[in-house]
Amino acid sequence: MLERITELTFTELVVFSLVLNLIFYGVSIGLYTLANRFIKGEYIQDVKQEITKGDILLSLFVLVCNAFVLVLGVWFYNLGYIKVVENSTMLIILLQTLALVIGMDFLMYVFHRIAHIPWFYSLVHLRHHQHTSVNPISLFVLHPIEAIGFGLLFTLLLYLFTFDTLAIALYLIINLIWGTIGHIDKDVFKNTAFERITRDILCLTVFHNIHHQDPKCNYGFYTLLWDKCFKTYRKL
Ligand SMILES: [Zn+2]
Ligand SMILES: [Zn+2]
Repeated sequence: MLERITELTFTELVVFSLVLNLIFYGVSIGLYTLANRFIKGEYIQDVKQEITKGDILLSLFVLVCNAFVLVLGVWFYNLGYIKVVENSTMLIILLQTLALVIGMDFLMYVFHRIAHIPWFYSLVHLRHHQHTSVNPISLFVLHPIEAIGFGLLFTLLLYLFTFDTLAIALYLIINLIWGTIGHIDKDVFKNTAFERITRDILCLTVFHNIHHQDPKCNYGFYTLLWDKCFKTYRKL
């Protein structure tokens, strides 16, 4: 599969990247809609976040930024800065996926804390926090610098370490699902076995909704580890 991507012409690669990110966008909105419609649960936010024309346009531009990072990643690969492997065993793929989640969990916590330093906040991160509640596209309502910054962090990990392409794909799917889960305006896991097992470990829906209400806590993305370590964790 990787060879096919690297054999694409520049125009084909750009189109592929845009279409892939458009699919991610559609999947995220679809998951949000399904969860809101079919899972019973209390709404977390008191006020609905309106979907504005500006938000839609910005979220579509963020897709272009994400596609740009993917094109950049393939370019780095072609230049030999990024190395990947294929056909690893399932155990290696799962371990690598876990390593990517843990590595990005830490890097994104640090990146997010920096984004809340007043100067960076007003310049880069405020746009995301203009959503004091959440809606189906909140995940994609980001300042373009922030969107590219997250992508470059991931690219940095791929530059530093070699991963299997399947581990990279699995991580990207987990990242999309987790990002969507954090921006659902409903406590979809309440009183489920999954919540009971993971509530002291993972960042679930309520966790990131609280961050939108109170930007001084809950900076993590996948796990509660770093918020607990640095005492920035807040429960509902
Ligand atoms: Zn958010
Ligand atoms: Zn924030």
